[in-house]
Amino acid sequence: MKEYEVVIIGGGPAGLTAGLYASRYGLKAILLERGLFGGQIVNAGEIHNYPGFPNGISGMDLGQLMYDQAAKFGLQTETADVTGIKSGGTGFDITMDDETISAKAVIIATGSNYRKMGVDGEERLTGRGVSYCATCDGFLFKSKEVAVVGGGDTAVTDALELSQHCKTVYVIHRRDQLRASEIVQRAAFSVDRIKFIWNSVVDRLEGQDKLEKVTIKDVKTGGTSELSVSGVFVAIGLIPNSGLFKGFLELDEARNIVSDEVMHTSVPGIFTAGDIRRNSARQVATAVGDGATAARAAFSYLKER
Ligand code: NAP
Repeated sequence: MKEYEVVIIGGGPAGLTAGLYASRYGLKAILLERGLFGGQIVNAGEIHNYPGFPNGISGMDLGQLMYDQAAKFGLQTETADVTGIKSGGTGFDITMDDETISAKAVIIATGSNYRKMGVDGEERLTGRGVSYCATCDGFLFKSKEVAVVGGGDTAVTDALELSQHCKTVYVIHRRDQLRASEIVQRAAFSVDRIKFIWNSVVDRLEGQDKLEKVTIKDVKTGGTSELSVSGVFVAIGLIPNSGLFKGFLELDEARNIVSDEVMHTSVPGIFTAGDIRRNSARQVATAVGDGATAARAAFSYLKER
């Protein structure tokens, strides 16, 4: 069985930064990623809120740069789907498709995926008017009419953020009451440019090369109507990639990994970083900070063992 000091699971900004730091600490580390190195940012289009790139940078390029930097300092990487993790030997056994490796410490940076509406046009128009991140893409819709889907804190704070530069922001919510916290609701209700479309869901999205209109279905009457918008921000929750750790690590009610401020999880020797951890701000800038913190904590843990 191959043995490592640190195994990092997940190759987005958090995992790649943990790998960079672990390698620079001189640890024998490997990073396992089942998809593309770079994680979610690979699909994010242009990123304008990551410091150091005043003219923006494509998520694909940023992911590649992070990968190159970690590899330059000796991080080993492998494309592999992790299927199991358990305590064993002097640390942990990590099972992949057809191999089990051992690690003295593990950093979990498996992230989360945006929940999709699953309607016609959603996939085709993603990046062409359909977005899952108002903070990342909102500026593209200056003075435009846009819609936000969802009624939670993310949807309503997105609507507030968008209302600062968009002409009108429609919030399409499937019930007649918001899930968002009172204070956020009150703030949104006081902005004239935010209009609520209650008891409604998106039925389909249409547009030739970019989004032009949304068909909305009233869930009470079944009737449909059309809304012309240039942007739709889908904010109907996240699906954390934490299924593998259920019963092994403490997860919160939303299935994010519970950790302290230096990324220790409920199991000594296992650390976490990025979107998968409870209370993550879900930004590239915060994910890389988590990754560095987790690698530092893993280094201290290994030194003191
Ligand atoms: P959330 O609280 O789970 O809200 C998801 C919203 O999407 C709900 O309103 C839900 O409707 C709706 N929804 C779910 N599936 C849907 C579907 N298939 N079609 C249409 N609508 C659907 O998710 P979130 O807003 O991303 O927040 C996640 C967590 O982060 C929460 O704990 C939240 O408080 C926290 N957060 C906090 C802040 C803050 O500023 N403090 C900001 C963002 C997030 P129903 O209400 O009918 O279920």
